[in-house]
Amino acid sequence: MQKILIIEDEPNIRELVLYNLNQNGYKGLAAEDGLQGLSMVREKKPDLILLDIMLPGKNGYDICKELRAEGNKTPVIMLTAKNEEIDKVLGLEFGADDYISKPFGIRELMARIKAVLRRYENGTEQETAQNGTGKAGGAGFAIGELVINVERHEVKLADKTLELTLKEFDLLRVLAENRGRVMTRDQLLDKVWGFEYIGETRTVDVHVRYLRKKLGDEDNEGKYIQTVRGIGYKMR
Ligand code: CA
Repeated sequence: MQKILIIEDEPNIRELVLYNLNQNGYKGLAAEDGLQGLSMVREKKPDLILLDIMLPGKNGYDICKELRAEGNKTPVIMLTAKNEEIDKVLGLEFGADDYISKPFGIRELMARIKAVLRRYENGTEQETAQNGTGKAGGAGFAIGELVINVERHEVKLADKTLELTLKEFDLLRVLAENRGRVMTRDQLLDKVWGFEYIGETRTVDVHVRYLRKKLGDEDNEGKYIQTVRGIGYKMR
């Protein structure tokens, strides 16, 4: 049975989610502050973490960062309360896998959990498969001064290596693979975040914004990523 840990200081939310985790075939675990949460992650090794941001003891951002820094890859879904939190979760590299805004419906939460777990399992399978054969695709793209090496997961702009998050890299790769074609936000959500993702198209916009910043591509008529109004984005 997969174990899911919720770290949340509001008792109502914690209890409700815990109850529903257990009703939906998971083993639910709960922690009510950041420090207890962190030690439970290390001891109980959950398969997924639902992580509140404002927590006594240690906040959700720091917990996520700390886990990733010690090589812990357990998927994390952030529970966000405010719009500013959403932007921060999406834009910065805490290593969270997804977020859901409060208040959320239990059905939506369960769908997110399922999607993240599936994506995570597919990801580890792919890694194993690639290590097994000893080779990965090896494809790459060169667009002006931008060079994307898919095999090495590396992006260079005018010979300078760019630090991209996993999602930013995937987004750039999908746009490059479809160069010259307009990709709708829904298509990008499907290809980058997975078919199961019940996301908001805003996720795409926020990631494009951060990606552009790193590409030095600040306006909508960007050198690399063009906004096609009312439709989506296109790699030039
Ligand atoms: Ca809280």
